[in-house]
Amino acid sequence: MADAQLTAIQLDRAMGALLGLACGDALGAPYEFLPRVPYTTPIGMVGGNRMRWAPGEWTDDTAMAHGIASVAATGVDLRSVTAQDQIARNWWAWSEGPVDIGRQISAVMFVAEEAGTAKAMRTAAMRYHEDNPHRSAGNGALMRTAPVALAYLGDGDESALWQAAQEIATLTHFARDAQEACALWCLAIRHAVRFGTFDGLRLALERLDAERRALWSTRLAEAEHKQSWQFPNNGWVVAALQAAWSAIVHAAEPVDRPELTLCAAQHASHAIERAVRCGDDTDTVGAIAGALAGARWGAGALPRSWLAKIHGWPDATEDDLRRLAVLTASGGRSAAVPPSSAFSDVDNAAPRLAYGRLSAVHQNGRFDRLYLSHSDEVLMRRGGAWIAADAAPTAAQPVEADAIAMFDEAEMAGEVQPP
Ligand SMILES: [Mg+2]
Repeated sequence: MADAQLTAIQLDRAMGALLGLACGDALGAPYEFLPRVPYTTPIGMVGGNRMRWAPGEWTDDTAMAHGIASVAATGVDLRSVTAQDQIARNWWAWSEGPVDIGRQISAVMFVAEEAGTAKAMRTAAMRYHEDNPHRSAGNGALMRTAPVALAYLGDGDESALWQAAQEIATLTHFARDAQEACALWCLAIRHAVRFGTFDGLRLALERLDAERRALWSTRLAEAEHKQSWQFPNNGWVVAALQAAWSAIVHAAEPVDRPELTLCAAQHASHAIERAVRCGDDTDTVGAIAGALAGARWGAGALPRSWLAKIHGWPDATEDDLRRLAVLTASGGRSAAVPPSSAFSDVDNAAPRLAYGRLSAVHQNGRFDRLYLSHSDEVLMRRGGAWIAADAAPTAAQPVEADAIAMFDEAEMAGEVQPP
């Protein structure tokens, strides 16, 4: 693991990966195993649901990620036996509480705990895969993978990360899809922290052989052409990754207009919300999307109202995740965590208020484009393309409710004309 000398903004993005994971998890927990939530219905970190979560309480996704992060934070190479044995011990400690544990992980851990080693876990995972070849690619390894990426942020660490992500996956999930999903997502997170873009996911495909590259390329393209809720079997690692990637690709990215309380970094919370609305395994899709969106936009992009609430096993909060992220990213050396207000892009913004300033243009009874009220400025970029706004907004009509939500509904119904 090369020495990663990170700038302040890169460090903020490293923290954003863990905090985004936790926010998506805690935001999704109240909606797990329920139908998708339409964009016109408000959602919040309200807790409840079948496990009676407290508001802001995270679930197994963040708890297991914490079990990895607390080892990574010591600076040890996660490919070592020492590191993996400790991760296994952390997970066993977690599993002794009254926890929500997935079927596959529970089965593997139950078999392996007596032997007490990571090797025993991997053997049990391999056996589970052999016994259940069509049910062994659950999303449980991908949901917790983000801290692995933070341990390999240095120059030239890609290959080590590629290997580490797959090794940590195989502690519970031996299926090739699960291993590759973790490796791809980790490289995407690493790239996002280092460079502040989402380009890393596609770049990571180069590491696969031609056949697998073509398969994953098709899967990503499908995600880019469908909405998150159109991957309903999101307990499967591939569908979970697709739902998360779809949420990131399709979430609205405001232009930076501080005077209108708009900033591009709000894309992070939009993406997480969109992921959580997908239905079924909402906390996990939220956690997966949140890790990458948080890594791209940084801790400062996450709403303070969320960060103040997140907590969970092992009696940890926002500050603990910040500390683990910084320690991991610095190879276990630095515990100097920048104060949470240092980079805040959105804390003073009121995104909901901003929506009220939007107007939608109808053409022939269809939603056509969104405008800033009283302006002809381009407001939104969707699916990688700017929504055209070259005409004067004389036809703009005020939208009473949440304009973006209405636009999303119209888009899903096929009523939006392409820009
Ligand atoms: Mg969960």
